Amino acid sequence: MSGTNMKLVVVGAAGRMGQTLIRVISAMPGAVLFAAVERPGSAFIGRDAGEIAGLGPIGVTITDKPLEAFVDAEGVLDFTSPAASVEFSGLAAQARIVHVIGTTGSSAQDEAKFKAAARHARIVKSGNMSLGVNLLGALTEQAARALDPAGWDIEILEMHHKHKVDAPSGTALLLGEAAARGRDIDLAAHSVRVRDGHTGARAAGAIGFATLRGGSVIGEHSVILAGEGEQVTLSHSATDRSIFARGAVTAALWARDRKPGFYSMSDVLGLS
Ligand code: NAD
Repeated sequence: MSGTNMKLVVVGAAGRMGQTLIRVISAMPGAVLFAAVERPGSAFIGRDAGEIAGLGPIGVTITDKPLEAFVDAEGVLDFTSPAASVEFSGLAAQARIVHVIGTTGSSAQDEAKFKAAARHARIVKSGNMSLGVNLLGALTEQAARALDPAGWDIEILEMHHKHKVDAPSGTALLLGEAAARGRDIDLAAHSVRVRDGHTGARAAGAIGFATLRGGSVIGEHSVILAGEGEQVTLSHSATDRSIFARGAVTAALWARDRKPGFYSMSDVLGLS
């Protein structure tokens, strides 16, 4: 089975990440684009997936019928919206295939549905599929563990392009979770996601978030560890969306022969 190219479906094929995935799959060994799916009503239905991604025709026509596309496929690469990803995880479970979820902004209820689908599907989900950010997560956890919360404050700063619809970014939350793990605390109980007006002094042990939006920025993240008289900044800059797409294809290939379950990018990269 693993000797043949893995048959992948790209959902959200016409999106920023969808088009990047189509280009990356064509350049990566071990995988082949089997089908491409867009939302019903999209102007891209019926178009050739290679053409819309700037590759020229590749003979894969964009469809709005995900189940038909999934039946004979081996994996789904999904950077769409939380509601769409929930639907796709149910279909991936029915088809018993791999579902790589890059979509961010999911609610706790959505997460519960992904975990339920992972009883039959092999799900890899991460707020950031790049090697660099997952390494940054591991470094953040280590730094948070080493530095006493009484003397060191943790702030996470992110900037993205003006079209992004959720905040803080999935990556900022991933980094916040890593810091919370290092401190052995629950992120939700300690995070400060916005500040406005007379906020009072900073609570000891808080993990703060700050969000910037504008232009075409693909993704900038900094974890600032601020102590008395010194500061450590760990940061990552994404300059090309192909880092996320290559990570997603790597995750699908990794999950191909795994048991059904809910996995993270740290599992794929051996960082956990
Ligand atoms: P985008 O708006 O450019 O693309 C999303 C696409 O999904 C659109 O083409 C839309 O029509 C399509 N879509 C929506 N509902 C659908 C449905 N039901 N069926 C089929 N297609 C559907 O957005 P983007 O910049 O590509 O980002 C998409 C998601 O991926 C966002 O949540 C973003 O935060 C996330 N993202 C994650 C990572 C990561 O590494 N995890 C990296 C980049 C972006």
